[in-house]
Amino acid sequence: MKNSNRRIFLIHSAAITSATLATQVYAAENKMKAAAPGERLSEADSYPKSMGFKLDTKSVDKTRYPRHTTEQYCSRCQLYEGNANEGECSFYGGRIVPSTGWCKNFKLNKSAA
Ligand code: SF4
Repeated sequence: MKNSNRRIFLIHSAAITSATLATQVYAAENKMKAAAPGERLSEADSYPKSMGFKLDTKSVDKTRYPRHTTEQYCSRCQLYEGNANEGECSFYGGRIVPSTGWCKNFKLNKSAA
């Protein structure tokens, strides 16, 4: 194989790999958005896992998320709608998260306690 053909082959392979990964992430995000409200969000599901989701903010990996603090938890997030124990998260299609949870999409609700 000539060098230019090899280069073109490698560029095409990289493009296909990138497109495949992007499609998988997009599919996982859409699956979350399409989830039925009322389902519980799981730490084990691929998309929440990729977002660092934990049921308890105290178990977040400090090495991986150095800006995380234990003052960040779902019931203080703008995307949380629920009571003191659990609520729906609009980021994950209305799935139920515990008030103590956390993911890297946390956005402080300034009016939350
Ligand atoms: S987006 Fe907010 S409410 Fe939803 S899981 Fe992440 S921290 Fe919790």
